[in-house]
Amino acid sequence: MATRIGIIGGGVQGLSCGWYLAQHGFSVSLFERGVCGSEASGASAGLLASAGDSHAHDDSTFSVLRRHSCALWRDYAAALQRASASTIDYKTTGSLCLAFDGDEHRHWQHHDGGTGVPLDDEALLAREPFVSRDVFSAVYYGEDSHVDGRLVMRALSKAFVRAGGHLHEQATVTEISNKRGRVSGVRLADGTFCACDFVVVAAGAWSGTIDGVAQACVVRPVKGQMLSVDMGDKAYVRHALWCLSSHRDFFDTFYMVPRSDGRLLIGASVEDVGFDKRVTAGALHALLDSAVRVVPALQACPVVATWAGLRPLAYQQTPFIGALDGDPDGLLYACGHYRHGFLLAPYSAQVITDMIVGEVGADKKVAGGVA
Ligand SMILES: Cc1cc2nc3c(=O)[nH]c(=O)nc-3n(C[C@H](O)[C@H](O)[C@H](O)COP(=O)(O)OP(=O)(O)OC[C@H]3O[C@@H](n4cnc5c(N)ncnc54)[C@H](O)[C@@H]3O)c2cc1C
Repeated sequence: MATRIGIIGGGVQGLSCGWYLAQHGFSVSLFERGVCGSEASGASAGLLASAGDSHAHDDSTFSVLRRHSCALWRDYAAALQRASASTIDYKTTGSLCLAFDGDEHRHWQHHDGGTGVPLDDEALLAREPFVSRDVFSAVYYGEDSHVDGRLVMRALSKAFVRAGGHLHEQATVTEISNKRGRVSGVRLADGTFCACDFVVVAAGAWSGTIDGVAQACVVRPVKGQMLSVDMGDKAYVRHALWCLSSHRDFFDTFYMVPRSDGRLLIGASVEDVGFDKRVTAGALHALLDSAVRVVPALQACPVVATWAGLRPLAYQQTPFIGALDGDPDGLLYACGHYRHGFLLAPYSAQVITDMIVGEVGADKKVAGGVA
């Protein structure tokens, strides 16, 4: 009988792990409380940036992991598009970090190990002709890419099922059971019990709320609000743009990411308000005010959508990828990726897959989990 794996959560983490594991011939059942991609993963801007995000994780280990994950994405994106026969709008346009004065310029120059390339006025305007003349300088990170998060979620669901995975939506897991020191399965809210040899907890900001997870699995929600505008065919913004904020109540940095269909995503707030996903006037005002200051022409663009999602922030800001001390054998975690769940998805999926393949003996590769 094939090894049975239960995955809790149909976000980018759960589906990436599920897709990798199903390709290895395991019998994988993924349980999603609602619809796949309806929480943080559906809200994501899809930035796969080794630059830009100065808010957290700026230690050098994380910088190395970010760069490694950016490199993994090239193959991951190609494989996902092939496996799902769909596009995910993967683009390597590079990021431009914009400064309004010398202090901001120094901030971006020293960012991410000083790997960015400073651009003079002429070079900046050649790349972004619509940025405000008040922008003082820019630092360019040419290898950064981005994807359309919603397209990725659709492609992952398709690829998972095509690889033989069993997708169960509207299926809430209430409890992880174990017997004689090993996981034995998951119990659903309707009372159904599904026997499993391994269980992967990928329930995002809710990971710590399921009976049977380790006490150490402390994950909390951090709200992010975003909006999109329609640029039509004007291409007012051509790269992912990053700026420091003048609305520190809502965010320290903000970004704008263009999509192939003419939308421009503007985000994102960083708010410690529990499981509240309401979109607020204050955050939208801060985002729009910031965006128009950088690219004044955006004020004529219609607003297409507003939304909010809950980023899963792990205790000590290090994602749980792998096993935790004291847990029954076979219980693994892929949660707490905070602002980098898309960027780190191929890495987590590979670590979890290596651990399971290693344990069942088909392959003796050693796992590199960071839990
Ligand atoms: C506004 C915003 C912008 C972002 N931008 C980026 C970005 O540009 N780049 C990047 O890398 N990251 C970004 N992130 C972060 C990224 O979206 C998250 O890190 C990532 O989506 C987390 O994925 P996940 O699968 O762990 O969680 P989620 O996507 O939240 O998925 C968890 C799933 O588990 C389900 N679930 C919960 N409890 C149960 C249960 N008991 N039983 C069954 N199912 C359950 C939920 O319904 C949910 O679908 C952003 C986040 C936000 C909010």
